[in-house]
Amino acid sequence: MKINQAEIVMSAAREAQFPQAPFPEIALSGRSNVGKSSFINKVLTRKNLARTSQKPGKTQTLNFYLINNRFHFVDVPGYGYAKVSKKEREAWGKLLEHYFQTREQLRGVVQLVDSRHEPTKDDVAMYNWFKHHEIPVIIIGTKADKIPKGKWQKHKKQINETLGVINSDTVILFSAETGLGKDDAWKAMTGLLFS
Ligand code: GDP
Repeated sequence: MKINQAEIVMSAAREAQFPQAPFPEIALSGRSNVGKSSFINKVLTRKNLARTSQKPGKTQTLNFYLINNRFHFVDVPGYGYAKVSKKEREAWGKLLEHYFQTREQLRGVVQLVDSRHEPTKDDVAMYNWFKHHEIPVIIIGTKADKIPKGKWQKHKKQINETLGVINSDTVILFSAETGLGKDDAWKAMTGLLFS
């Protein structure tokens, strides 16, 4: 996909701030440091659009990017931060739950996992949650340049088995360094956005 335009249009801390435009959208989710910002920057061919890792303690927001005036990417802050109060964490959890359950524009989720390691318990819980809510998921195995090519299939299989990936979902190994998986990721994303 040729990216003519990619800009952040809203950092939303509450529902009233979600953009009302009817563009289809894909949400991107993964634990912090998994390589989500690098994925966003790479597929959008922008160096610094998505900031790397939000600081713990900072107000968490859903960041809406408008792409080519046609669709939204929604950057969901990495799960796994513990440094906010219980109350804040609960409020944030409620907002996310509400977003994923009610957002009409949402066509699917890109869930990022580190391809070098077995998916974590949090990764499994997130995937199960998306499946429970019947949200299509594209799984991106990040940092694949750090695995020797001969082991790609083995790592892909491990992701498939540990998450219990269902047939209609795809696992794609990806590298923000080499561009591996970028075309496949776009194929899968445009399939969700525009079919
Ligand atoms: P985020 O917290 O999920 O947004 O993760 P970042 O995109 O900030 O990446 C976390 C760290 O992993 C950074 O040091 C990145 O340079 C590194 N990283 C991200 N993607 C890749 C990749 O595909 N290959 C390699 N080798 N490093 C990566």
